Amino acid sequence: MRSDLKKVELHCHLEGAAPPDLTEAQARKYGIDISAHLQDGVYVWHDFASFLECYDKVSEVYKTEEDYALLTETYLEELAGIGTIYSELIVSPDHGKRIGLGADAYISGVCEGIRRAKAKSSIEARLIVTGERHFGPESVIGAAEYAAKAANPLITGFNLAGEERMGRVADYARAFDIARDAGLGLTIHAGEVCGAFSVSDALDAVRPSRIGHGVRAIEDADLVKRLADLGTVLEVCPGSNIALKVFPDFDSHPLRRLRDAGVKVTISSDDPPFFHTSLKREYELASQAFGFSDADINAMTQTAIEAAFVDEETRKALLARL
Ligand SMILES: [Zn+2]
Repeated sequence: MRSDLKKVELHCHLEGAAPPDLTEAQARKYGIDISAHLQDGVYVWHDFASFLECYDKVSEVYKTEEDYALLTETYLEELAGIGTIYSELIVSPDHGKRIGLGADAYISGVCEGIRRAKAKSSIEARLIVTGERHFGPESVIGAAEYAAKAANPLITGFNLAGEERMGRVADYARAFDIARDAGLGLTIHAGEVCGAFSVSDALDAVRPSRIGHGVRAIEDADLVKRLADLGTVLEVCPGSNIALKVFPDFDSHPLRRLRDAGVKVTISSDDPPFFHTSLKREYELASQAFGFSDADINAMTQTAIEAAFVDEETRKALLARL
């Protein structure tokens, strides 16, 4: 793969992208001992419970509006350095509330980071507000209302993340109605931890234009056809899927089979340093592990721009840069 291919990322959780070096510096600044979770520049975890514990501990060292500006700017600069022209970051205003910073200051810090990165390297970025399923429908409706009322031009999408096995998608449909009415783009985590039924449920209850992961749709041929017919775009994160053992190895990962069946697929990194990956590595995997040509990979990047939650003028400019 040519290393100068332009890149786009649609699925990345901001706190999950925290660069280990920056986390280490932040921990030092606040006198927080993070050595059990971060060793030699690598986040350390061994099962899902310790992954969540590590994730929480890392999130703890980002406390202020300026910390969030710095985190956002640092990650976007890393992306720009590998030829990324557009990024959508998944953010949780509820997280801002839970850490005592407040949703507005949290979002304002992130937006400042986006502005700084754009000024430096002209990378475009937008925010997808997410509800967290394990906090229940009321909290997810709250997140949707927050995103709708914010009227912030950088908030352009709504997502549902968190524990997929909690409740049915229909319980969260109201939140998506609020987001849809506010003109936000819709995407939802499904078909990762849970099987094909969770993707069908998402299509039925939410009618999203994109699905986060969605890869387990491969278990149901009719569903694969439905995705292809609808043109629903999958935000596929192969490195994350392998790290979390959704599939045992890249050979059994369905990215290529989905693409060959006519499903629109794109490549993202999810929580990159936690899964010992990066967007750069995901693009390399597309070539080395899945055998896609540069033209195939560019087509996926183009699909990502076409599916991006941006205004048409920005989309046109991004397509021109590709
Ligand atoms: Zn995700």
